[in-house]
Formats: sequence, structure tokens, C-alpha cells
Amino acid sequence: MKYVIISDIHGNLEALEAVRKEIEKMSPDKILCLGDLVGYGASPNECVETAREICDVTVAGNHDFGAIGRTDIAYFNMYAREAILWTAKALAEDTLDFLGSRPLTEVVDDNIRVVHATPRDPERWNYIFSHEHALGEFDAFEEQVCFIGHSHQPTIYELMDRETLIVNTDRVIVREGRRYLVNVGSVGQPRDGNPKAAMCVYDVDRSEITIQRTEYDVEAAKKRITDAGLPAVLANRLSWGE
Ligand code: ZN
Repeated sequence: MKYVIISDIHGNLEALEAVRKEIEKMSPDKILCLGDLVGYGASPNECVETAREICDVTVAGNHDFGAIGRTDIAYFNMYAREAILWTAKALAEDTLDFLGSRPLTEVVDDNIRVVHATPRDPERWNYIFSHEHALGEFDAFEEQVCFIGHSHQPTIYELMDRETLIVNTDRVIVREGRRYLVNVGSVGQPRDGNPKAAMCVYDVDRSEITIQRTEYDVEAAKKRITDAGLPAVLANRLSWGE
């Protein structure tokens, strides 16, 4: 069994298309999407359409719910808010319906949980940036592995026993008795200093979880953002992965 997990596409069709080509080469059994299909980028409808086509499970992100008025965008920063207002206007009717019908979290094949932000409070959209916080989240799910997105920073937390947590950057061997909280990074707006699109592969037969990176046409995605009249900062940050 092989899963590919993607997150935080953010309306970046160029990145999603490149990732899709890589995924096709791997022919996974299931593709899971952790939300934030829209917001920031200039191709929200196209990205939702592609995700609907390829993903077996898709949960909601804060930008998805923000764009359809299901979550308060007052706490979004200035650029994120401007992009969300642009996105809300751009959304097609069936994109809107699809985003509105997404669950906040889901269990896949009994042993995997998927959620955009945190398993404890999916709708509060908290960010996990510290070991302490990550450790506390393990009580909030029962499955062996939980995949998350939201921070756009790939990280693999591995719980050895009740209180020993180690952090792996891009690969881990899945062992019996251990549990995993995996941030899969972002397809459409990486923020870890690496501009390449990120995705995660869970190969159950090889007991291996890896974060993989894919090059894509960043300049084309940037041009689409500025052509749409969105803030230039949203285009420029794609070059730096920040
Ligand atoms: Zn996001």
C-alpha cells in the first residue's frame, strides 16, 4: 500500500501539475489532501478541479473555509486577507460547494488520521512549531500516523515512548510501538527556504515515510499572480520558499 499526501496547494496550478506528474510515476493506491487548496495563488478553481480528480480524501483548510465565509479571516495577515477576498470573488459555484462540503478531519484505513492544522482542535487552526506542542497533540488522536499541513514547513515528529519525541527532517522508518505526526509541507507555497513543491509519501510495505520535493515553473506561477492583480509579495515569496 502506498499513499501520497499533499497539502497547501494555495491556487498554484503550476506546482500542482508538476506534483501530479511525479505522483503518476509513483502510482500510489491513494492520494490524500490536507486542505488549503485555495488562497494566495491565482488558479483556485483549476486547483480544486485537479484535486477533486486525483485525491481520494480531501479535508478543509482555513483558507478554504475562509474563502467561503465559514471561518473568520480577521486574524489573517493583510496579504492573506486580500488574497482571500480575491479568491472568494473568483470561485465557481461547484468549487464553492466542494470546499463547503469538506470535513475537518478524517480517518483513513483505520490507522491514519488527516487534518489541516491540529488533531486536537482542527477548527482553531493552531500552528505546531514546538516540540512541546507536538508532544501534546499525540493524545488527541488514536491512529499510528497523523498527517498535517498548515505551517508549510515539512517536519516528521516521532514519538518513541510516552515522552520521548525525536524530529526527522525528510525521512523516517515506521516502527511498531512508535507513533508519528507528520507535517507534509506545502505544494504551492513552501516556507522552509526551499522553493520546490513538497509532498509526502507513505510506503506501508517498506515502512517508510519520506518528504519529497519537485521543481516546477515558479516564474509562470508568479506571473499569473501579478497578472491577476494580487499583491506582488505573494508572487516574490515563491522564489525564496518563504
Ligand atoms: Zn496554508
